[in-house]
Formats: sequence, structure tokens, C-alpha cells
Amino acid sequence: MNCRHCRHCRQPLDHVFLDLGFAPPSNAYLSAEDLRRPELYYPLKLYVCDHCWLVQTEDYARADELFRPDYAYFSSVSQTWLAHAARYSAMAQQRFGLGAQSLVVEIAANDGYLLKNFVAAGIPCLGIEPTASTATAAEALSIPVRREFFGVALGRRLADEGRRADLLIGNNVYAHVPDIDDFTAGLREALKPGGVITLEFPHLLRLMEETQFDTVYHEHFSYLSLYSIQRIFQHHGLCVWDVEHLPTHGGSLRVYGGHQADGRSATPSVAAVLASERQAGLRELTTYQAFQSRADQIKNELLAFLIEQKVSGKRVAAYGAAAKGNTLLNYAGVKPDLLPFVCDAAPSKQGKYLPGSHIPIVPPSVLREYRPDMVLILPWNITREVLSALDYVHEWEGKFVVAMPRLRMIS
Ligand SMILES: [Zn+2]
Repeated sequence: MNCRHCRHCRQPLDHVFLDLGFAPPSNAYLSAEDLRRPELYYPLKLYVCDHCWLVQTEDYARADELFRPDYAYFSSVSQTWLAHAARYSAMAQQRFGLGAQSLVVEIAANDGYLLKNFVAAGIPCLGIEPTASTATAAEALSIPVRREFFGVALGRRLADEGRRADLLIGNNVYAHVPDIDDFTAGLREALKPGGVITLEFPHLLRLMEETQFDTVYHEHFSYLSLYSIQRIFQHHGLCVWDVEHLPTHGGSLRVYGGHQADGRSATPSVAAVLASERQAGLRELTTYQAFQSRADQIKNELLAFLIEQKVSGKRVAAYGAAAKGNTLLNYAGVKPDLLPFVCDAAPSKQGKYLPGSHIPIVPPSVLREYRPDMVLILPWNITREVLSALDYVHEWEGKFVVAMPRLRMIS
């Protein structure tokens, strides 16, 4: 009996898009003490709804289990991301005429990496951030923070308090919410008439085209096309009126939305992106059914490469303890015998272990002592940044390797 239903349109969910077996939550970094305890694995399987075309994980884990209070991701660690945030803030201030009378609200404000730019311009802000460690960091930058999950309940409370937003921002949060309808209804409640919503999320089209299966993890509940977002927005009295392509996270979209009642007409970009999605087959089941074997090929290539290095006595280390690396390593079954450590610049991760693979996380300085022949860059989306930070690896003629979308050497 099929008991699965689409998270948005509630139609039966019959079609598996990708099955990556079982994996622990990607951001559940482990302490040495944790290694002596059992580890919780969840199925990591995506379905596609052939009615509204929302690609989604199966519902089984609650958000408060996945996003633990010690959740280690601090946005400000990535220089690329900080620069992206500063550019966005400057664009938004100018395009929407924001000033001292406005209110900018960011959902998943993290450590204040973005809102600090609005604070510096004298624009009132409010961050929504349930994770205590990052919320504390944001508050230290004079950003008021509500330590809650966002949804329709919080959206209504903000409206009741007279705190509806002129600009309501959600960067890399929309795909991460378990109940996308509750969240979208919250956006409607928390937005002033005439206000603007901007959401950034990895584009499903790019995931499909470039076989970015390592961007699949439990905390990432939905895989979004403009088509599916537009449907969800319309269902909640909202509309998408502009869209832009961004290079972040392997290819993202930034959608601009607002109340349908505002009657704003859509820019030609909206129709153009919808057409490119249709042309790529995002509304045909066969497109989705061809994906698994492409993912398996990448997994096999990485494993073959690591075994080959091991057999020939070459030393390999990895860089970047990011969620996407965990998906790849766990699906490939890579353990410390093939990859002895991973370096990461975030002090909050150093001294811990990757979930599942139990590969230790060490500071990048360890590379100078170990002098690996190869450095596998796991967060391929910031390859350029990593190459410039680790330029010294060339001193001992070390090389760089990226596994996605095809295994390739960068000398
Ligand atoms: Zn559906």
C-alpha cells in the first residue's frame, strides 16, 4: 500500500528519483566521545511528484532532530559567501529604496553574515534563527534575533506586533524547511503589502544537468525548480515576479516575489527560466529516471581513484568538511583507510569527525606537515577559493582533485 504523498499537492508519491541508501544527518559532526555510541542512519531517498514536479525527501525526521543546538555551520567562514551577501545588500538597498523607516527580516539569519550589511547602513533588521550558537554570534553584531523556526505561526505573530517586512529574505532556507506550505504561508503573513520576498536556493535544473547528487542530504527536504515554486507561491496568494541566476552552490536561483494583490507584472526572465526547465525535461518522468545511473558512475569513479592512489602509495587528504562531502563519502563508503583526514577552516568543526565515515577533521595547517600528493576538494562549489587558500600545496608538487560533476585533476 502506498502511504506516501507529495508534501505540497498531496497526490500519491510513486516515483523514486534517487536512492542513496542510508546515511546519518550530514551536519551531525561527531566528537571523539560520540564515536563510542551508536549512530543514527536515515534513508536518503528522493521522490519526484509527477503532478506538481516537486522533488522531495521522504518525511521521517523532524527538523528539531536534524538542526541540533550545536549545529556547526557558520556562514561567515566562507569569504565567497560574505562577498555575495555584501553585494546583495547593496543591490537590495538601491533597488527597493530601503532606509531608516524600512524593516528587513531574514529567515535563517545564521551568524549575521548578511544582516550586518543592513545594520551598517542604518536599516532596521530582524533575524530569525533557531540555532543558538549562530544566533548568539548575530546578536553580538547588534542584530536583534528571534530564536525560533519560521512558519505561519511566527509570521502571524510578527504581523500582530506590527513587524511586517519591507524585504523578507530567505537564503538557502526554502529548500531546507520540512513543511514548505506552512513556511510559504508564513512569508505571506510576515510581508507588508507592496513588500518584496527574495529566496535563494540551488536550482534543480543545475542539479540534474551536472549530476550534483552530493547536494542531496536529509536537511535538504525539497529540490526546487521555478515551476514548482511558482505553483506553491500561487497556492498561498503570492507570485514570483523576477528571477536571476546565481553561481552559488553550483548554480542557484534568486526569485523575487510579493503579494498577488500587488498586481506586479513579471519580468521576461520568469518566462525564460520556465522555458529552459521545460526544455530540459523537468516536467517529464523519464528525465528523472535516468539520474541514478549517472550518480553511480561518479561514485564509482571516486572510489576507483582513491583505491588506485592507496595501492600506488600516494597520499590523499580532503579539504572542506561540508554537508555535500558527507553525502558523497557515505554513498561511496569511503573511510579513513582511503582518506585519513579532512581539513576545514572552521574552528567549530576541527577536532570532530565526519558523520558516517568518521574521518577526522583537522585545521588546514596539517597539510603542511602531511604534504599529501593529492588534495580532494569536497565543496567543489568553492573550488577557486580553496585553490587560492591552499596555493602552498604546490610547494611539494601536490595536486588538487574534484569529484563532481566528473573526477578531474587540477594541477
Ligand atoms: Zn506534488
